[in-house]
Amino acid sequence: MIHADFALRHAGQLATMLPNADEPLGRIRDGALAAREGRVVWIGEDRRLEGEVDLDGDLLDAAGACVIPGLVDAHTHPVFAGSREDEFAERVSGAAYPAQQSGERGIARTVRATRDADAATLLRLTEARANRFLVNGTTTIEAKTGYGLDLTHEAKSFDVLRQLAARLPLRIVPTFLGAHVVPPATDRAAYLRALTEEMLPTFKAQAIFCDAWCDEPAFTPAETRAILRRAKALGYQLRIHAAQLAPGEGPEIAAELGARSADHLEFATPVLCPGANFTTHGPRPPIEAMRDARLPMAIASDLNPGTSNSESLPYAMSLACVAWGISPLEALRGATLHPARSLGLEGLAGCLRPGSFADCIVLDVETPEAIPYYVGVNRVLQTVAGGVVWRPS
Ligand SMILES: [Zn+2]
Repeated sequence: MIHADFALRHAGQLATMLPNADEPLGRIRDGALAAREGRVVWIGEDRRLEGEVDLDGDLLDAAGACVIPGLVDAHTHPVFAGSREDEFAERVSGAAYPAQQSGERGIARTVRATRDADAATLLRLTEARANRFLVNGTTTIEAKTGYGLDLTHEAKSFDVLRQLAARLPLRIVPTFLGAHVVPPATDRAAYLRALTEEMLPTFKAQAIFCDAWCDEPAFTPAETRAILRRAKALGYQLRIHAAQLAPGEGPEIAAELGARSADHLEFATPVLCPGANFTTHGPRPPIEAMRDARLPMAIASDLNPGTSNSESLPYAMSLACVAWGISPLEALRGATLHPARSLGLEGLAGCLRPGSFADCIVLDVETPEAIPYYVGVNRVLQTVAGGVVWRPS
């Protein structure tokens, strides 16, 4: 007998997301799983559960609903204060996103508001977003800083992420995004110096990844190379915001420096961010070319105050299907397996198997492939993180 402290039964369809000979989703009908100390220890058909698992703990009855791994969002900017709803309104009446980035507007405005917010306020705002991730079925996020943009305020952002990780079961993979933009009223050369000589070494202990935005109005290819080379030398793993607003060298830099992910990529080679693409009227990314090249496309919310104020991956999946022609199966992999891989969590998150995190969601859908079909409606009934049923506080 396998000992467990949590079990889930009667999943009408349980998608492990690990394909087998007959099943691209590794689907188990009337499935069950058991966990101990936050990890899956058993998974199979419900009728075998009682004979094979000795449960001393909580039992969740999915009552025929679908169960899939907790969603993994590989690109989010959750630590910010302030709102830019007026910029959204301007864009829907025709303003272009780059034109909103001058002076004290756009990202600079969020930097100002984030610096002005005290630590408790910033924690409260970010915690509300973290709760919305869990409500919408996301159990792992990559979380970028990048609205502090100096030693003090980037440290405040990292503190918020650390406190959140202690308060909520959401798994948070921190990324230092000091190379978001040059902050307002700051000398460019002085900022690049502070970034590479002070901030990058200081935040190595707090972040797994370093990210840089290689595009107008952020950093040039030469600056991006210098920042990411320094980050790599310090031991960071790399991510890059590339080719969001215009074609550029970002994807090449990503390949050259061995980045774990290249994000946006609406002009080139993939963490895809359909929400930001949608609200900035961006071009369609080269989905067919990525598919032909067998690139593991991930889909992210890109939660941020400027272009995608949404924690919902199911919504991003719907957009990717409807606007870009991603198939529901590709969207499912893009919100589980592939982003987990881009975060270095393959086999642990984004799939269900013995040894993986016991992170799963129960959904009111007929099949897992139906998730993007329910556009803009949250069909998540329960979120389980680390073998514990999460309840909003
Ligand atoms: Zn982003």
